[in-house]
Amino acid sequence: MSPAPPPFARRAWVEIDLSALERNLGKIKAHIPPRIHYIAIVKADAYGHGLAPIVTRLLQCGVENFAVANVREGADVREIGPGANILVLGPILPEEIPRLADYQLTATLSTPEEARALATHAAARRHRQPVHIKIDTGMGRMGAWHTTAPQLIRDIHQQHAGTLDIRGICTHFPSADTDPRQTTRQRHLFQQVLDTLPRELNADARLLIHADNSAGLDTLPPNGPFNAIRIGLLQYGLTPNPGSPLAHINPEPVLSFHSRVGLIKTLPPGATLSYNRTHTLAHTTRIAIITAGYGDGIPLSASNRAQVLIHGQRCRILGRVTMDQTLVDITANPDATAGDTATLIGTQPGGEITLREFCSWTDTIPWEVFCSITKRVERAPRGLRIQ
Ligand SMILES: *Cc1c(COP(=O)(O)O)cnc(C)c1O
Repeated sequence: MSPAPPPFARRAWVEIDLSALERNLGKIKAHIPPRIHYIAIVKADAYGHGLAPIVTRLLQCGVENFAVANVREGADVREIGPGANILVLGPILPEEIPRLADYQLTATLSTPEEARALATHAAARRHRQPVHIKIDTGMGRMGAWHTTAPQLIRDIHQQHAGTLDIRGICTHFPSADTDPRQTTRQRHLFQQVLDTLPRELNADARLLIHADNSAGLDTLPPNGPFNAIRIGLLQYGLTPNPGSPLAHINPEPVLSFHSRVGLIKTLPPGATLSYNRTHTLAHTTRIAIITAGYGDGIPLSASNRAQVLIHGQRCRILGRVTMDQTLVDITANPDATAGDTATLIGTQPGGEITLREFCSWTDTIPWEVFCSITKRVERAPRGLRIQ
């Protein structure tokens, strides 16, 4: 039986290619030594791809470790993966602490105050709270500053052994994609902290030692202390920067972003287009109105700059992007008709607009593009596997 047609037409949607996700995972795993644990980053609704289909497919592929931004996201992953290890990357708010035990989430810990608060709650619940201790080696965000970290680790290990279970030690690189020397310096500072680990902790084979995001893989030493990586961007099909040595992994984009042609009209020379009249037509121009705008995640900065594909052919955006509609020039695209698909990011037969290109037009980065596609835009997974 074929599925019932959707009750309403899609005016803007993203297609999520789950087979591409699976292939990317395979390529990344082939690139790293087998002893390295894979932590799949699925924060922010799996980078806007839709949490449930992404986590489900990753679980089907054997991924055991996931990381999210906060407790709420952790609870959502727990519902999908009852046996998964789930690490919360962000700071825990006071009233969120009980939820850690409710959903068996692992916390990231930076300060003695956090350690005390988590230990107190864990004691009251007769729970042993798993934690990863984060070291600040130069990110300047979370983490114990690397010079004080050895003391924090020792204190937790000695004073909170019954209530806090140290399951990981980690750090974070601010410029793994642009400054390999800084990244190497940070690896060195991190190693100095690891050298001070209490003996039993050092000998604990379960302990995850991690620092690397996608860009970090560029400089991940094959024989260093690291036994886990935290991968977001690369699994979704992008290398962190275009010239990255990781390019040979050749990941495939998982997400593509589409809209429709709602209306076509022709305007004479001298007509001005859209709010604030930022474009004046020089010639008679055939215009298509695309049924998506900044309310769907086409940034205002795409105005008069970005392009879309219609019938595989590039068409320039004219005038300002508005909340629900965007104007494009189809003068050179005589076949375009109302109802056609207009692709903002992705391929059509005969053409492709990459996410990188979209970023260059809109002065942003891939991570932000993923997070800017709004709730109104349906996520349509392809290649769902029923298990
Ligand atoms: C989001 C995040 C990552 C993943 O980064 P990518 O560049 O997308 O691979 C890794 N570590 C932490 C702490 C993060 O917040």
